[in-house]
Amino acid sequence: MAAHPTPRHVLILGGTTEARRLAELLAAEPEPGLTVTTSLAGRVTNPVLPPGASRIGGFGGPQGLATWLHTHAVDAVVDATHPFAERMSFNAATACATAGVPLLALRRPAWTPAPGDDWHHVPTLAAAAAALPALGSRAFLTTGRTDLAAFAHLDGTWFLARSVDAPTAPLPWQTHVLLARGPFTLDGERELIREHRIDVLVTKASGGSATAPKLAAAREAGIPVLVVDRPPVPRGVPAAVSPEAAAAWLRARSQTT
Ligand code: NAP
Repeated sequence: MAAHPTPRHVLILGGTTEARRLAELLAAEPEPGLTVTTSLAGRVTNPVLPPGASRIGGFGGPQGLATWLHTHAVDAVVDATHPFAERMSFNAATACATAGVPLLALRRPAWTPAPGDDWHHVPTLAAAAAALPALGSRAFLTTGRTDLAAFAHLDGTWFLARSVDAPTAPLPWQTHVLLARGPFTLDGERELIREHRIDVLVTKASGGSATAPKLAAAREAGIPVLVVDRPPVPRGVPAAVSPEAAAAWLRARSQTT
């Protein structure tokens, strides 16, 4: 009689292209007895669901996640949340340490400046808001709808604020909201900068190709870019830079357990 492999359960903390890609990779090369669940926060309406199982909504902090890992017999977690989903990454590190479950952070590479770029790095959104008035008065704000509040007090700046879903107050009073979901094109970004007479771009250091054309468009237009730097991966958590590397990490773990 053939031996049954030990059932295994991988939890992907998602909300990114890389998380979806990892779920696709694991579905394309199915491992007998492997269950893959992707977890989404539920921020975006009509999310694109990955292959495999999925669940939506918070776990109730690190303790809630630790309980979920135990109840659902999770063997490994890949934190493939956005580089700026700092709280979830911290919760994952705490919960996995508590539950004794191996954790890998999947982080896409950050963008690097090219000749001609005029990037100004700041550590936080608050620092970006403080630095912005000195750099321009018509800002293209691409930090996402939940981060607009950090700029709400800036009365002298006009904003083009782009987000997937409509932002809620507080917003800067001179704000034109543009609802759009990437990937974006260089032509489209050029046109937005021209049409709205943008003189400064504000972005988080998210990385990834889907939203990178704005950086090339800003370079071409000769305008400065305020870059909010990433928070670090929680201490002691190993990191992979691609879904392929994360899949290899999972494969290596399944061979040693
Ligand atoms: P966050 O501030 O780090 O997390 C806030 C809370 O949301 C967490 O404590 C957790 O609630 C819940 N949560 C976050 N990610 C979750 C997930 N994948 N599954 C279940 N619950 C999750 O997160 P955020 O910055 O608001 O981002 C929320 C989601 O949007 C993430 O999945 C992230 O990948 C995605 N996203 C974020 C950004 C960004 O710029 N921050 C950009 C694009 C996509 P509990 O404590 O109750 O578990």
